[in-house]
Amino acid sequence: MHYRSTRKGTARVSSAEAIKRGLSDDGGLFVPESFPSLSIDTIKKLVSEPYSKRAAYVMSLFLSDFSKNELIRYSESAYSSGNGQGFDHKEIAPLYRIKNNTFFLELWHGPTCAFKDMALQIMPQLLTASLHKTGEKRKVCILVATSGDTGKAALEGFCDVPGTEIVVFYPRDGVSDVQELQMVSQAGENVKVIAVDGNFDDAQTGVKGIIADELFCHELDHLGYFLSSANSINWGRLVPQIAYYVSAYCDLLKYNDIKPGDTINFCVPTGNFGNILAAYYAQRMGLPVNKLICASNRNDVLTQFINTGVYDKNRSFYTTVSPSMDILVSSNLERLLFELSGKSGDTVASYMSALSAEGSYGVPDRVRNELCRIFASGRCGEEETLKTIGDTYNESDYLIDTHTAVAYKVLNDYRANTGDERTAVVVSTASPFKFCSDVLKALGRPHLGSGVKLIDTLSEMTGCLIPSPLAGLKSKNQRFSETVKIGSMKKAVMDFIGGR
Ligand SMILES: *Cc1c(COP(=O)(O)O)cnc(C)c1O
Repeated sequence: MHYRSTRKGTARVSSAEAIKRGLSDDGGLFVPESFPSLSIDTIKKLVSEPYSKRAAYVMSLFLSDFSKNELIRYSESAYSSGNGQGFDHKEIAPLYRIKNNTFFLELWHGPTCAFKDMALQIMPQLLTASLHKTGEKRKVCILVATSGDTGKAALEGFCDVPGTEIVVFYPRDGVSDVQELQMVSQAGENVKVIAVDGNFDDAQTGVKGIIADELFCHELDHLGYFLSSANSINWGRLVPQIAYYVSAYCDLLKYNDIKPGDTINFCVPTGNFGNILAAYYAQRMGLPVNKLICASNRNDVLTQFINTGVYDKNRSFYTTVSPSMDILVSSNLERLLFELSGKSGDTVASYMSALSAEGSYGVPDRVRNELCRIFASGRCGEEETLKTIGDTYNESDYLIDTHTAVAYKVLNDYRANTGDERTAVVVSTASPFKFCSDVLKALGRPHLGSGVKLIDTLSEMTGCLIPSPLAGLKSKNQRFSETVKIGSMKKAVMDFIGGR
């Protein structure tokens, strides 16, 4: 299986090369040349396998320069549980049934309690293997700009991985108290965590600027390093995510909730379009999916795009209770546009240049019709998000986080509007304990203040068990306390690498 760019470039690269480079030279994203197929018979065979074997199988269809045994080895070490290590649920990505035909796919049982672990627990192994496979002699320095969840998941994943260093930048006032302490207490010899005097967009622009700075990269090259990124444009983050959609279908079969071949709906709380894109890829491989429901918060640029065929980022940006979905430019949408435009790199390049020049682009009716055939979408505002958490808890005794609540509300609206009551899976992306203060507000306790002590309060109030990685958090020491101005991010990277 080879990969090509979503834009003009016609060069084909191997999967190891795609994972090592992250982004194509023409600014496009790497996409598989074709989709491997997954038959119902194969899916049936995976039903009796544990999560790690299901994931290794799905990844092997895309990563042809990795051996089957190699992938099983990486997968078994990434997706393990027990002894207070790795995942805190033996099924890794379990389904929770809330009513007859409605399930939550809990993707937050990993070491940082958000779905980013599903990819970032295995991506470092895929990346370091890719360096060997491509004959790369330099070490890699991973730069991350995070709005909270990616940073911690990347730190855990890359912590003390030989041949790698990782620097995470987060907006000083833009992450939750739990998220901040998770990051600044990170252990490991090869990690650095820095607050940025600015918002998430500033941090992200800063990181992109550093990676594109040729002179700086040349200096790092002399020190034996090259820069890469661990955000969701990297194929090494996307491919592990396809696996949990297949696994969810296997589990529905396993417990006789559906029959082989039955179609189901997935509803995904969406930000950068990585998670839902993985569901689309699973569908393209043959997983029986009826609709992919794209759930937006108040920043509903994607819902508007699916409904109108016009992507327009010239709009207000809102800070919401579901911060990981606060985004106006969803990078991975480019990969979907590529597929829906008949794999035309020229067409995608023209959309992307219109997006950077004018802030918007429109797709022709043919593409829009395809979008509406595959996707449904909806938006959930702030009040509705909190109300959904409260209602779900009161009616079903099940606690969900702010992002998952957006998706659950959008699914309920979709069902009311369409009458499509078939089996649906809501993708649950974070533990409610990561967003304690808003979850407590949703449960009618708005005045409890802030800070990581609310983890205990939420547990006492609901009787829900604190996930073990968060239980020990309040006694952790702050290791990192540096704040830099946007203009000094590059120097901070050099100080770190130069001192190695
Ligand atoms: C990252 C994240 C999302 C958004 O996922 P995308 O792949 O960017 O669409 C949703 N919920 C949570 C909790 C996240 O951390």
